Amino acid sequence: MDKTQSMLPPENHDILRYVKQKNTKKILLAVIWYLLLAAVTVYYSVVHPDGKEPSGLSYLAVALLALVPFFFFKIQNVFLDHNWEGMIVNKKYDQITESDRKFEPTWESLHTKTVVILTVKKDSGGKETLTLKDDSLILSDYYQEGDRVRHYRGIRFYEKLDKTKDNMSLCIVCGTLNSPDTAFCRYCGHSIVNIVL
Ligand SMILES: [Zn+2]
Repeated sequence: MDKTQSMLPPENHDILRYVKQKNTKKILLAVIWYLLLAAVTVYYSVVHPDGKEPSGLSYLAVALLALVPFFFFKIQNVFLDHNWEGMIVNKKYDQITESDRKFEPTWESLHTKTVVILTVKKDSGGKETLTLKDDSLILSDYYQEGDRVRHYRGIRFYEKLDKTKDNMSLCIVCGTLNSPDTAFCRYCGHSIVNIVL
């Protein structure tokens, strides 16, 4: 273990536990979903309650339903995402156009908003970006270029490793800024590690 490694603040065990529980729940839901889907598929392909062989369309429906855990509970992240550390190398202000109405955007519902895009260079190589917008835009002042950060798998916001200059404590689960030295988030109750480098 080199010097910078040994100086890192400890990982937040409450967050690690929370992520583990969340992932276990996702896996369980996915397993239940696939068991139900398998049961229904087997029933219809063996029993033919309507007297007809399953059509190509019903196979397509099964294929689409099999993708549900990937779209709705992002099950792939349980296996693909992991914890890492890195440094914010770029903070960029940008404008995006969004609509209040998702399906039928009208000129009235379209509006331009400011977003902040953080680019983080991971110690292990590669880059990640985090877009701050809406409620989380307030964090654009909290994160600065050059900050060392830690990403916890399944958690949206980065934990800053050096908090010595901060006058607020960030809850990385919900993105709420708390008063300094707070042990638990006032909004969601998750613990906040205030140990600094
Ligand atoms: Zn919180």
